[in-house]
Amino acid sequence: MYGWWGKLLRINLTKAKVSVHDIDPRVLGQFIGGRGLAVKILWDELPVGVDPLSPYNKLVIASGPLSGLPAPSSGKLVVASKSPLTNGYGDGNIGSMASVYLRKSGYDAIVVEGASRKPVYIYIEDEKVEIRDAEHLWGLNAFDAEEKLVREHGKNSGILLIGPAGEHLVRYATIVSMKGRSGGRPGIGAVMGSKKVKAIVIKGSKEPQLADPEGFRKTAEQAYRDILGKENYDFWIRQGTMATIVWSQHNSVLPTMNFREGLWEYYETISGDLMEKLKVERRGCPYCNMPCGNVINDIAGEKSELDYENVAMLGSNILLSDLRRVAEINKIADMMGMDTISYGNAVGFLMEASERGLIKERVEWGDHKAVKELAYDTAFRRGLGAFLAEGVMRMALSLGREAMDFAMHVKGLEVSAYDCHAAPAMALAYGTSPIGAHHKDAWIISYEIKVDRLAYSRDKVEKLVFMQNVRGGMFESLTVCRLPWVEVGLDLDYYPKLLSLATGTMWTLDEVFTVSNRIYTLIRAFWIRELGWWSRKLDYPPMRWFKHPLTKGPYTGAKLDPGKYGEMLDMYYEVRGWDGNGVPRRDTLLELGLKEVIGVLENIVELK
Ligand code: SF4
Repeated sequence: MYGWWGKLLRINLTKAKVSVHDIDPRVLGQFIGGRGLAVKILWDELPVGVDPLSPYNKLVIASGPLSGLPAPSSGKLVVASKSPLTNGYGDGNIGSMASVYLRKSGYDAIVVEGASRKPVYIYIEDEKVEIRDAEHLWGLNAFDAEEKLVREHGKNSGILLIGPAGEHLVRYATIVSMKGRSGGRPGIGAVMGSKKVKAIVIKGSKEPQLADPEGFRKTAEQAYRDILGKENYDFWIRQGTMATIVWSQHNSVLPTMNFREGLWEYYETISGDLMEKLKVERRGCPYCNMPCGNVINDIAGEKSELDYENVAMLGSNILLSDLRRVAEINKIADMMGMDTISYGNAVGFLMEASERGLIKERVEWGDHKAVKELAYDTAFRRGLGAFLAEGVMRMALSLGREAMDFAMHVKGLEVSAYDCHAAPAMALAYGTSPIGAHHKDAWIISYEIKVDRLAYSRDKVEKLVFMQNVRGGMFESLTVCRLPWVEVGLDLDYYPKLLSLATGTMWTLDEVFTVSNRIYTLIRAFWIRELGWWSRKLDYPPMRWFKHPLTKGPYTGAKLDPGKYGEMLDMYYEVRGWDGNGVPRRDTLLELGLKEVIGVLENIVELK
């Protein structure tokens, strides 16, 4: 087999048993890898309605046929599971040497199932796979634990870890690697913690066989050269995603005061321009020639790697000015293994609840000391931190009806850093994202701002589905970083070409998009099966954007129109081949080769 190994490594912690299984080549052709392979495994293997934090849930770590190969920004892997935050499908991608070594170890995916009674870490070196004692690592933050493991196993390894947040089952705990790169926002780190797995260390000595290695090398080299020649390459290298702070401010989409407003008068205190002046280092994922990890010294003099999302959510969204203070909170969250977007949301929600008198504690907007202490308390579930550790949806449910209106989440996953009072298509992107309110699947807001911004149009819906198919379907299953395409405009055609050269099967972009459609539809089926019910209301963005208009800036008075949003949602369902309630139609399931899903969904919802 070319491109893939066709092998899955299964580690059952309850039985302390390791086994290797063949992956059906038809499955790889239908789902490619990464997210696609992960959802297929979870659909096939999970007991229906499983408790996400029970031993019966599974953690999938999956690569794609391009990941970890010498091709642009390929050092990514996907971590996926049933989410303890949303109770639906959850995943995330991580840029890590673990991606490179997973490919070298001879497996396309790892499934971790069952649970250990005591802390362990998993050691993988080609065929040698061991479940090892991790008492000496448990309780350490993710950075310190990684340092220890590097000392034990050397630098030639890829390491995935959890921090205290994962150990204490914080519902938005992430999996961390390389001191600052993390993924798995919907609590995939908590799933790893529930299994008592502190870390996975991967080494490998093999090379995946490619169908046309010379053609692959030449094409990849050309793509690297194209990236270097792109017009905005230099600016990207200087600021990376941090340039978005100023862009968001100028377009009134910078999350401010728990998404009450879209701009903030002190935005310059957290801007990309300021970051450039403070920058001490640049980091990146393996095989990336446009690295975007910008590192500054935080207020305590320690290094912190910044990007737009964490700075906006821990800055303007909670009115915390001073980039070095924001950087400190960001670094603590990374060390604790806790998602910065969700933590920024949870703190913003807490501050608003405090302001409204819905909780007895006073937590003021912009209180750096409180946010810092709460970050540790959340990771260890102490005091008010235990409340924050539950995530915004559960926090709001415990406070009652008023709180629901300012709880910024979709399906339980907290909203990432774009205010949508005046951005209906971006609101739809959050509403229909397959893991809850994350921007990874469709960052349509830049397109939306360039066209008729306030329109609820079919053109935007079609563009949104296209973006989901490219970003959430193609890039997440290949599995490589989307940013060369998104940020510097690398030609999309490179990707089916590289996939063809790697696997020896000719792929067109349209064929990849069919896989994307299959992935989105199977993820939707997974949600319906796991929740045991479905309503189109689950595809709506937070109530705040419908109810509380902006009070500042050029879009003062703007809010979403629920009727028009509903019309856009209808169009979205139509394009995807789903019915008016957001359930995949029988014909769609058959066309996508998902016949086995029909019988499952028929028992839960009316199938059209
Ligand atoms: S662009 Fe940034 S996120 Fe993407 S691979 Fe490069 S360093 Fe990683």
